[in-house]
Amino acid sequence: MRIETIAIHEGNKSDSSDKAVIQPITLSTTFERGLDGSYPGGHVYTRASNPNRSSLENVVAKLERGVEAAAFSSGNAAGSAIFQALEPGSHIIAPEDMYHGLRNLLKEVYAGVLEVDFVDLSNLATVHDSIKENTKLIWIETPSNPLLKVTDIRGICSIAQEMKVLVCCDNTFATPVFQLPLALGADFVMHSSTKYMGGHSDVLGGILVTKELTPFWSKIRSVQSLSGAVPSPFDCYMTVRGIKTLPYRMRGHAENARKIASFLNAHPSVEKVYYPGLNEHEMHEIAASQMSDFGGMMSFTIHGSEAQTRDIAAKLRVFTQATSLGGVESLVEHRASVEGPDTRTPSNLLRLSVGLEHCDDLIADLAQALSKS
Ligand code: PLP
Repeated sequence: MRIETIAIHEGNKSDSSDKAVIQPITLSTTFERGLDGSYPGGHVYTRASNPNRSSLENVVAKLERGVEAAAFSSGNAAGSAIFQALEPGSHIIAPEDMYHGLRNLLKEVYAGVLEVDFVDLSNLATVHDSIKENTKLIWIETPSNPLLKVTDIRGICSIAQEMKVLVCCDNTFATPVFQLPLALGADFVMHSSTKYMGGHSDVLGGILVTKELTPFWSKIRSVQSLSGAVPSPFDCYMTVRGIKTLPYRMRGHAENARKIASFLNAHPSVEKVYYPGLNEHEMHEIAASQMSDFGGMMSFTIHGSEAQTRDIAAKLRVFTQATSLGGVESLVEHRASVEGPDTRTPSNLLRLSVGLEHCDDLIADLAQALSKS
């Protein structure tokens, strides 16, 4: 089946006797045993599994062409499940511009438990040389947040396979509509489903997908059900609902983003546009070889100070100044100030989550804010 059909049907297991077309939300935390003590409904207790969570896991596993998925209460909880499943003392190679929430999770919560090196993943020789005896995982995030750096997934995976190291790819920005990391060699895919999958800025979630059923995946499943950072049935329902329109939304986001990137690229107040769809992007060729389109996220720097940069964000009217991304509404964010003192993001940079409003309105909004800068 094609992605549009999977998105609509694979998260909708409706076997209710009233013939509801849409799967109902199963709020029950517990499930009745049969007379023989078995669980004929396939569920025991909602921390371990729930019909809505199973449907969400099913549709995302199919979209990512994996064999199974595990859903969590946030993207960070999904990332944390992989880190928890590693043996203490394991070494991780992570991108130097990793999403700051996951970076801080590794640096603060897993300090003393896991060893981490933040490495420039665009340099395959450096990645190779960073692998140590205890290296168990390479974490990829491509395109990255907020600098839209692109990592060569095939290149990293071939090194990792040779060195028997697992690879997990954060596919939040690209989504399975534009990029399939498992098909390119990764072992796991991770998502903040809070973003494009939910798609409407109203539900938090995270998900992991595996290429194979392995003992390490079973450990992740144990972390999921025993640590219990699981999404509620309502959150699963909302995410499944969002996923139904994911392919169409992603095409709209990418189309708007392409036009906005060209507009910004030609604007005299703009210093640099970070969008992998632009020919000028340092890793455009790699992006084009592993993505079918370039998504709705971009950043740009202006010729000016931090104060002028923040002023532009404040002047935007259609773009809302807020963190997060991937919703139908366009957002703008001054990343350096949200990332805190150890940020690596330039202070003259704004990140855009390009939404699904009419592109002319978005461009007019950017034009008026930049003209007053
Ligand atoms: N990965 C990326 C690329 C993100 O942008 C985010 C959140 O912004 C996360 C992971 C974490 O997801 P969540 O906020 O759902 O925990």
